[in-house]
Amino acid sequence: MTAHVEQREFQAEARQLLDLMVHSVYSDKDSFLRELISNASDALDKLRLESLRNKELDVDTSDLHIELEVNRDGRTLAVRDNGIGMTREDVVDLIGTLAKSGTAELRQRLRDAKQASESDELIGQFGVGFYSTFMVADRVELLTRKAGESEATRWVSTGDGTYTVESVDDAPQGTSVTLHLKPEDAEDELHDYTSEWKLRELVKKYSDFIAWPIRMQVERRTPPADEGGEETVSVETQTLNSMKALWAKSKDEVSEDEYKEFYKHIAHAWDDPLEVISMKAEGTFEYQALLFIPSHAPFDLFTRDAGTGVHLYVKRVFVTDDCDQLIPRYLRFVKGVVDAEDVSLNVSREILQQNRQLTAIRRRLTKKVLSTIKTLQSERPQDYRTLWTQFGAALKEGLMSDVDNQDTLLRIASFASTRGEDELTTLADYVQRMPEGQTQIFYATGQSREQLLKSPHLEAFKAKGYEVLLLTDPVDEVWTGSVTEFDGKPLQSVAKGEVDLDTEAEKAEHEAEREEQQKDFADLLTWLKETLTEHVKDVRLSTRLTESPACLITDNFGITPALARMYRASGQVVPVGKRILELNPKHPLITGLQQAYAQRADDDSALDETAELIYGTALLAEGDVPEDPARFASLIADRLARTVQ
Ligand code: ADP
Ligand code: MG
Repeated sequence: MTAHVEQREFQAEARQLLDLMVHSVYSDKDSFLRELISNASDALDKLRLESLRNKELDVDTSDLHIELEVNRDGRTLAVRDNGIGMTREDVVDLIGTLAKSGTAELRQRLRDAKQASESDELIGQFGVGFYSTFMVADRVELLTRKAGESEATRWVSTGDGTYTVESVDDAPQGTSVTLHLKPEDAEDELHDYTSEWKLRELVKKYSDFIAWPIRMQVERRTPPADEGGEETVSVETQTLNSMKALWAKSKDEVSEDEYKEFYKHIAHAWDDPLEVISMKAEGTFEYQALLFIPSHAPFDLFTRDAGTGVHLYVKRVFVTDDCDQLIPRYLRFVKGVVDAEDVSLNVSREILQQNRQLTAIRRRLTKKVLSTIKTLQSERPQDYRTLWTQFGAALKEGLMSDVDNQDTLLRIASFASTRGEDELTTLADYVQRMPEGQTQIFYATGQSREQLLKSPHLEAFKAKGYEVLLLTDPVDEVWTGSVTEFDGKPLQSVAKGEVDLDTEAEKAEHEAEREEQQKDFADLLTWLKETLTEHVKDVRLSTRLTESPACLITDNFGITPALARMYRASGQVVPVGKRILELNPKHPLITGLQQAYAQRADDDSALDETAELIYGTALLAEGDVPEDPARFASLIADRLARTVQ
């Protein structure tokens, strides 16, 4: 074996985050201990599970525990576990890079965070796990040996952008992290992490519920037996945590802080939970559940591999944190624990896949989470608003995948609308406000509120004073295709199908005018349809435009271009659906074109170009790009040239 010491650089984002830690003024420095204990506890869970699954693994699991070791003179604090341990590759991958990185957001925020207060917030939001040690230590050593392997790894860093790794022959199985504490904290009682009392307090506060014993050697002083005798000092090992499972207690036995700390451990999160849900089911399937609704969305909520957040325990013992049978995917932001009494669940993944009991639990959890959100909505509007802003886009996925709860989901959903900039409205409130004569719930889908408000599709609704829901999450393109009504009122896209907002009286009034228009424009429409046949499947007169000359409409059951783009981006093939071009018969461009067409010469190519331009501008008006932008630009330039001659 080589004693070769390799020096390596942290990955760029990891380096930035470390730098934040080293210079941190984060008010909650103490939390480093929670992070180390949390990692140690995870490592013990993993080892226990591995030893059950892999009988070949030759490890002693009879005394799994965590140990704190203090050296007051040397000012070090070590946290050890005899858990699963890491290989050299694990160390480089897991500690040397920011495992949770890769999102543009974190990178951007790191770049922007200059002020100390901002970085404080960043730490609190993203959480920094192992790196939090650099808030209190100026040198961190990690020595680890993976269960079943003989070679161990030592990793050392001062948090300055580089670290060293070396393979070593001899180390106990598991991981120990030794912190060389910063000298400036030595005199500060609040931050003296070599003090027995400080450590006791921190374990009690942050990690009391940890299921493994957290031990520490303490000095026990016995007063002299008689006058003139000597005080005796002995050393004994104590367990600092109660190891009580919080989910087994009723809600009034647990303090808010205890729930918060448990949430942070189980969710690997740094925010506070918005709501705690405690459940107990008795009868055929017995289980207890403790669930948390976070107050911040993790930044990987919408990446494909975002895992689920509910851990499965059986009779107090951790089984898996990766059981997607326990909670539907659209509730993946919910974190917590389900502890079942049925030991058969303790077996293999395959069994978990098709277990009736898990299906029943999942149904109950789903109902409970949704009803909790409903209660928040009526009783704590501010918190509901936070929840919807953070997780609404995920919840809306349920409108498609969870038909049983579709109605509940529609009721707890809220949407932006043309009514007010900052307000969200529920569908029920929208329906309440619908004026006499309005029979449908109108919505527009698109990229942003600003873009939608300018869209020609909205003109008639604005003119009429009808409220339109403005849906700007990508998922809105999808669920609106499968949900057709709410409370008996059809949902209608402003960019789809025919729109007729006239009342019966208005219809009668406009009838003659409409007939006249149909006659006048008939030839033009036929010609346009032919000319643009490559692009559109029909050309007709519009009743939805008041200002723009033209717009493009999708069939009521057709696929919108945005949806087609989404399908294509995810690798699915979708047929190119042609749309319908609607013309505003009162717009000077359209009436002018109609006259020009009536008086055309035989080979009038300028007219063809006008048709193309009208189609292209309709695309532009909805924020899209003409199919051949260069050609479109040159057609416009030619026209403009004539206006300045
Ligand atoms: P997180 O715990 O949220 O994944 P951390 O920064 O706390 O992030 O830890 C990064 C990873 O390093 C862990 O996911 C784990 O794989 C590994 N790790 C950290 N501490 C230990 C330990 N004591 N034993 C085994 N693996 C560990
Ligand atoms: Mg961690």
